[in-house]
Amino acid sequence: MPPKLSFNLVKLPLLVPFTTSFGTQLDRVAHIFSLENEGITAYSESTTDVDPFYSYEDNVTAMHLIKDYFAKEIADLPTPAAFMERVEHIKGHEMAKAALEMLLWDYHSKKSGIPLHKYLGKSKGYADVGISIGMLEEDKLVPSIMNSLNKGYKRIKLKISKGRETRILSTARLSFPDAVLSADANCDYRIEDLELLKSLDQYGLAYLEQPLGHDDIVDHAALRQSISTPLCLDEAITSPDMAREAFQIDAVDIINIKPGRVGGLSNSLKIAELVHNYGGHCWVGGMLETGVGRAFNIALASNQLVDMPGDTSPNEKYFSKDIVRNIFKMDKGTISPFESPGIGVILDTEFMNMMSISTGEIQL
Ligand SMILES: [Mg+2]
Repeated sequence: MPPKLSFNLVKLPLLVPFTTSFGTQLDRVAHIFSLENEGITAYSESTTDVDPFYSYEDNVTAMHLIKDYFAKEIADLPTPAAFMERVEHIKGHEMAKAALEMLLWDYHSKKSGIPLHKYLGKSKGYADVGISIGMLEEDKLVPSIMNSLNKGYKRIKLKISKGRETRILSTARLSFPDAVLSADANCDYRIEDLELLKSLDQYGLAYLEQPLGHDDIVDHAALRQSISTPLCLDEAITSPDMAREAFQIDAVDIINIKPGRVGGLSNSLKIAELVHNYGGHCWVGGMLETGVGRAFNIALASNQLVDMPGDTSPNEKYFSKDIVRNIFKMDKGTISPFESPGIGVILDTEFMNMMSISTGEIQL
């Protein structure tokens, strides 16, 4: 029997609508991939969304690339690195590449009988966890931060947008003078907003995340010279080369690594190594993943080179019921990756099928 690749497009309602500078998300609509071969079933999740708002990729473009270009390259179950070499001539589409690259990581770690966090190497056995809080009205913001601090999150990240930043950050800082706070603008500012961005220094943020263009590092370098708050890049770092260039021109202090955005776990590990060599810091972000994508993020965030708390909250922050039976629990601001082979999740296939908009098989 040759390997079989299938997908479910699931739609899970979010417990709380998630508002960023580019919109409000009510559901997580994600492709979950399953690869079956000789009694092993591997899983992965595409980090794309319905809309191309975070990046140019979306669920439709990802499925096009996977069906028409990438799927045939995994028929002989190559290593993740070999797969990435085969698809290197196709420009961009890192999230689509990552969906299959990570499927291969899960497959090969399961075949070896090793949990993914150990298979990746240099695991510290746990991930430090922060929380990302979408934009809320003032009366909801303070209780939400209070609740997060009580739960033990090690860092509170607040989404901001142009015009709403001062109110959000002054409210948060006034109420919580000693909390570790950061702000994420998701590209909502331009270098012309320099004076406004300089004014954010007064809030003593651990870092300011991706204030400028999604494909910019040059203006970020100029901004970094003018502010005292450390600068973190997310959207702009789409590859190990972009990470290297950002450090070379002094555009960055910290990188938010999202495996989907950079083409998977091999590139994520390369970026973590590079950040370490340049004396920077990194953490693992999230894309509101279901339990499948979340398990990859926790495994990566357990790496010794990942030295800051990430956006890898337990499943229950996002969903009343997840498509996996085993959910992550946070203890004193840390989450331990699963110890069974691969990503270690037990899929609730019945519930996943119930929540699926469409399902199908993909020709290898
Ligand atoms: Mg971000």
